[in-house]
Amino acid sequence: VDGTRVPALVIGTGYGGSVAALRLAEAGVDVHMLEMGMAWDTPGPDGKIFANTTSPDLRSYWLRTKTKQPLSNFLGFPLDKAVPRHTGILDAEEFGGITVYQGRGVGGGSLVNGGMAVTPKRENFGAVLPSVDADEMYGTYYPRANAGLGVNTIDPAWFETAECYQYARVGRKHAERSGFPFVFVPDVYDWDYMKREAAGTATKSALAGEILYGNNHGKKSLQQTYLARARATGRVTVSPLHKVTSVTPAAGGGYTVTVDQIDTGGETVASKTMTADRVFFAAGSVGTSKLLVKLRATGALPHLNGEVGKGWGDNGNVMCGRANHMWDATGSLQSSIPTAGIDNWAAGGAFAEVAPLPTGIETYASFYLSITKNPHRAEFTWNAAAGRAELNWQTAWKQPSIDAAKTIFDKINAKEGTIYRTDLFGVYKIWGDHLTYHPLGGAVLGRATDNYGRLHGHPGLYVIDGALIPGNTSVNPFVTITALAERNIEKIIAADL
Ligand code: FAD
Repeated sequence: VDGTRVPALVIGTGYGGSVAALRLAEAGVDVHMLEMGMAWDTPGPDGKIFANTTSPDLRSYWLRTKTKQPLSNFLGFPLDKAVPRHTGILDAEEFGGITVYQGRGVGGGSLVNGGMAVTPKRENFGAVLPSVDADEMYGTYYPRANAGLGVNTIDPAWFETAECYQYARVGRKHAERSGFPFVFVPDVYDWDYMKREAAGTATKSALAGEILYGNNHGKKSLQQTYLARARATGRVTVSPLHKVTSVTPAAGGGYTVTVDQIDTGGETVASKTMTADRVFFAAGSVGTSKLLVKLRATGALPHLNGEVGKGWGDNGNVMCGRANHMWDATGSLQSSIPTAGIDNWAAGGAFAEVAPLPTGIETYASFYLSITKNPHRAEFTWNAAAGRAELNWQTAWKQPSIDAAKTIFDKINAKEGTIYRTDLFGVYKIWGDHLTYHPLGGAVLGRATDNYGRLHGHPGLYVIDGALIPGNTSVNPFVTITALAERNIEKIIAADL
């Protein structure tokens, strides 16, 4: 790595980075990808690559000494426990008013996420990205992204009988009895594999509760899709445990990229520089935003404009649970892959997923992750004294999300004669309003960049990840991130190379 010159360098190996790498390589361009997380291609002492959700270990968290589980409590008891500090797979990155969960490793968020692969309703897309031609997106790039990611839908007949989706059928029943539209949510998990798990003919992953810390089987992460195809071109090199710290114009043209190689304890073992003709920022909304505000403030990229760092949102994420009656048992076996959604976006600004609580015991609880229309947007800034990027999100800004979610769950509770669970996020706390899984924005399309992700002020620098999307997508974001990356890289290859 050290001293090399490459035509295209990609920072990060999530959705945006993987699309860029594949398409550039197919166009004949050699690509080097730098990823701060691990490769996740080698089994641990237990024979598995990834740890189980119910027994987090050193593989589970990014450089923490104690787990920070999104569901922090159960029946009032704290669940978090000590783990060795290690470059684990899930980063619970804490800013002043919000904890932002992100995947770390080759494959980015695809390693840890639930695989829910949702294309937003066309009528909502215009509000998300008004400068993007929706005909092109829905005619070409969303279909291309869905095909590239391996999106598939559950067999509706199997859904009706599968023991592991009793919780989702209870969720549907309650939604429909209160008059809310119920939708199936597509996923990149291989549903045929899950059928075999249920039949006892395949090693269990979703039915063993695997999620958050990686799935050992069944889920098509980017390692199995875009990144596999990118590597097969022979033009793509991936360097894990390499963290980019600076990008600045190089004397002879192109950019000098400064990289810390780290060990699995997070310590820097080597500092390296590379030169690249073009650099693609694909470090995720948070990673890209943090880098860009630092590089602007420190003078490394002085011509970045004032929009860099702005327009960040949490996709309106808020969680809650409901306590069901004894006749609405949700099942002791729950697939970790959600497949049911309640769509109240048009009327109440909320799209709620019926999520699992894979505890292995009957809880009589229904659990939901809602995506809501939250108007608040935060900004990243560089704190020179502290030497770090900060985000000014306020915890109180979740109130519009709670109000939107209540349009669904207050009504269901009234109809069913049920109440909210108060034991999942603390003691007597109903709302999981301290976190997001869906960071978006910070280098918004058409503001910090042009309409295709070219950063204003520095030719040859591009943003190609969730930082482009202004804070909300109305549904789970990765299909939109992938489709937008497909659109932008096609234009960049045609016009700039
Ligand atoms: P990422 O996928 O975040 O990739 C960025 C990569 O860059 C990471 O691998 C990171 O380690 C690396 N990086 C960062 N900084 C640097 C640096 N300085 N140097 C080198 N590398 C760096 N979305 C859905 O659509 N459906 C779901 O079901 C879903 N479930 C989720 C569940 C969880 C628990 C989480 C955390 C997220 C979930 N998401 C889901 C969100 C989805 O995973 C993200 O929106 C998506 O991964 C973002 O893609 P990206 O390309 O912007 O960046």
